[in-house]
Amino acid sequence: MPATEILIPEADIQSRLTELAAEINAVQPDGPVHVVMILKGAIIFGVDLARALERNTTLGFLTASSYGEGTQSTGRVEIDARHLGDIEGRNVLLIDDILDTGHTFSKTLDILGDKRPATLRTCVLMDKPERREVDIHADHVGFTIENHFVVGYGLDCDEAYRTLPDIRIYAPE
Ligand code: 5GP
Ligand code: MG
Repeated sequence: MPATEILIPEADIQSRLTELAAEINAVQPDGPVHVVMILKGAIIFGVDLARALERNTTLGFLTASSYGEGTQSTGRVEIDARHLGDIEGRNVLLIDDILDTGHTFSKTLDILGDKRPATLRTCVLMDKPERREVDIHADHVGFTIENHFVVGYGLDCDEAYRTLPDIRIYAPE
């Protein structure tokens, strides 16, 4: 397996998850939260975080493809919003795995905003601010990292490594 250097150990992810849930609960309005995660990368973090909130949640999903295959961004983002669920008038929390150039998040936020949620907050597991091309930030950030290509805990390289329990720096052999 080429991806061997652990950047964020499993225990650190789990303890940050608990902190993030507390941060989010402190500012989210009372009542149900509609948690929207961007597939596939956010699925493991998104589900773990939704459960850690320990409140009445519903789930929605978007598919965004920006990287295609490999590690280079194509700059294009294709969004499939068919499994988003109802947004209008609801408190929505958008979750993604990693904020990189910002194109995916920016396009997704436009789509959600157009559907008139009561509130719209955002959370990402990781942020790579150095790589930003669009002026955008997330309300809640798990870890700010340097410009590495990472895999694990939902993140892939050509669909591999998503089920690793930790985050690793991908280093091709
Ligand atoms: P953006 O549109 O912000 O450039 O890209 C965001 C998406 O690109 C993320 O949701 C993720 O799917 C993918 N991405 C960005 N950086 C990485 C990375 O380091 N590793 C992996 N596996 N995917 C990444
Ligand atoms: Mg993604």
